[in-house]
Amino acid sequence: MKEYRIITIPGDGIGPELMESTIAVLEAVQEMNGALKLNLEEHEAGAGRYARYGKRISDETLQACHEADGILKAPVGNPAVRTPEGTEAGLLGGVLRTGLDLFANMRPVKLYPGIRSPLAGYEPGGIDYVVIRENTEGLYASRDKGVGGPEAVADTLIITRKGTERVVRFAFELSRKRNGAPEDGVRRVTCVDKSNVLRSMALFREVFFEVAADYPDIEAEAVYSDACANHLVIRPAHYDVLVMENMLGDLLSDLGGATAGGLGMCPSGNIGEKFAFFEAVHGSAPDIAGQGIANPLSLILSAALMLAHIGESEAANQIETSVWGALEAGEIRLDNKGRAVDGSQAITEAVCARVRGEI
Ligand code: ATP
Repeated sequence: MKEYRIITIPGDGIGPELMESTIAVLEAVQEMNGALKLNLEEHEAGAGRYARYGKRISDETLQACHEADGILKAPVGNPAVRTPEGTEAGLLGGVLRTGLDLFANMRPVKLYPGIRSPLAGYEPGGIDYVVIRENTEGLYASRDKGVGGPEAVADTLIITRKGTERVVRFAFELSRKRNGAPEDGVRRVTCVDKSNVLRSMALFREVFFEVAADYPDIEAEAVYSDACANHLVIRPAHYDVLVMENMLGDLLSDLGGATAGGLGMCPSGNIGEKFAFFEAVHGSAPDIAGQGIANPLSLILSAALMLAHIGESEAANQIETSVWGALEAGEIRLDNKGRAVDGSQAITEAVCARVRGEI
């Protein structure tokens, strides 16, 4: 029996609904895998906690995150809950990503069956790439640190050799485990930057090609970020793994999500040397909270990424193939806003039934 301690953070808005669905799927997975035991430990963090106690996350939860085998986080935040400085009080990105030194933000973009892409002519699996967003430096290293007066403010974009090397290496290692780009089956890592304009990005590209030399089995290429935005719309099948600076990754992964059925289809992992946490890409969607219409697949697929990360690939595949099968058979239906036509509960049940082999 393999046991894992997993911290769950249900969060705010649609977060608790998504977490409930995901836990149901994880329970089904454990029923089918007698040798797998996930000890789930719920912790309150986010806007709700801030409103109650004046702190978004407790020291005890942070300590637990340092000790656990896995962390699964539902969306947090509520635009109505603000710090005295006016920023959103419930967000945990800074404290967890920086605090745990999670340098690689992995954002898969995959077109599943039954999902209508705004791009014409793509079969299921015809779009299948991973955006690796550097998570600890870049422009967002300046988060809350911009300097200047009322007329002008400067935010500094920082790229370091060490920070770039580790995230680029992560991208190449990931490509090795994948099956290549849908277009031609070639394992390929693409460096996305703006090195024609910014010196910081020129360093990013330089380090990228230095690391690429260690991976002769994988094609290495570089593209400017503006051209990449264009390519992700007109030829997404060319891409396998893309690696880029923090803000570029933030923008291009959202663009990618839009081509693959919206944010509700987008899982993610934040991964470092020692720790990792997994979360839906989207926010807490207060506009639809409590209505039972959110698509829980973003968090269910994030749980699959978590299982793969802790070495439980078989369980991860079980979730992935169940989601794929349920979408393909029309057991899961989403409307054109990415909401659950038959309700979130029906999606959960469809995935659980397939995990249990009932269908
Ligand atoms: P944040 O800045 O915190 O990421 P946001 O302002 O980008 O948040 P989201 O909360 O991500 O906003 O929601 C954007 C839109 O997508 C909203 O209309 C929301 O209802 C919708 N949405 C987000 N997640 C889901 C989901 N899982 N299922 C269905 N719709 C969703």
